[in-house]
Amino acid sequence: MGYGFGWGNYVSAAEKRRKAQKKVAELKKQGRPIEPVHIEGRTIARSFWGKSWCDNLERYSDFESRLPRGRSYVRNGSVVDLKITRGEIAALVSGSRLYKVRIAISPVVAARWKAICGDCAGTVDSLVELLQGRLAKGVMDRVCREGDGLFPAPKEIQLSCSCPDWADMCKHVAATLYGVGARLDDEPRLLFALRGVDEGELLAGSRQDLARSTAASRTAKVLGDDDVAALFGLEMVEDAGGGIPAADTAKRSRAKKTLKRSAVAKAGKAAPPPARPKAKATAGKKRVRPTAAPSARR
Ligand SMILES: [Zn+2]
Repeated sequence: MGYGFGWGNYVSAAEKRRKAQKKVAELKKQGRPIEPVHIEGRTIARSFWGKSWCDNLERYSDFESRLPRGRSYVRNGSVVDLKITRGEIAALVSGSRLYKVRIAISPVVAARWKAICGDCAGTVDSLVELLQGRLAKGVMDRVCREGDGLFPAPKEIQLSCSCPDWADMCKHVAATLYGVGARLDDEPRLLFALRGVDEGELLAGSRQDLARSTAASRTAKVLGDDDVAALFGLEMVEDAGGGIPAADTAKRSRAKKTLKRSAVAKAGKAAPPPARPKAKATAGKKRVRPTAAPSARR
């Protein structure tokens, strides 16, 4: 595709672009902030988030036949302005005129987001890794999952364009959708903004993660001390001696209770919920160190 259809086409594309640039210059002069989509070479998106956005669109047969025209359009700089906000993608796309594209995307409903966070609990260590897409395979698969992942299905996407034939996804809309993939390379956070969710909640130790840890520690309270020690890697010093006089039993059990509470409280802050299978991969890294035991007892 691209410029493959002869010289005539190339000139007309260049002419269109000049006109669009003129129009964009006018808009800028009026004080409207313009954010064009620039694509170097043929690859539209390179990052995990950008590529996943494009892959998601391409897997739906509803879009399959319509999307390809958008690829050459976005590559040749036709998306002269693209803005992504909660629930909406707005773009100006140059064709024979400058067209206005509006794409409404339903925000992710709370239960779906909670389920995503729950399934990824304790596995996403930092915002930087999350936004760079340096994620465990399980997390990648989960957020990309069709239907209940982070990317929208066709029924969650409402298209419109100011051109006459937008109803069947015109090339302006298709180019805009690809433009989002390119934009996510630079600003992956916009995906979360678009879907109306807080990416921080995916992180280990986030508020949502803490809520799950609290639930897990409630379970831990009914476990024996040895189980608690095993779970959190703590040494139960009182239990280790064995030769403590009977008179000290009351003191011991008080000490044990204190230790148990501290261990649980500490675990609530620092450790991933132990019962979740996906947390296992990082459990070694995250576990409360045995050295924390003496200070936790005081
Ligand atoms: Zn259109």
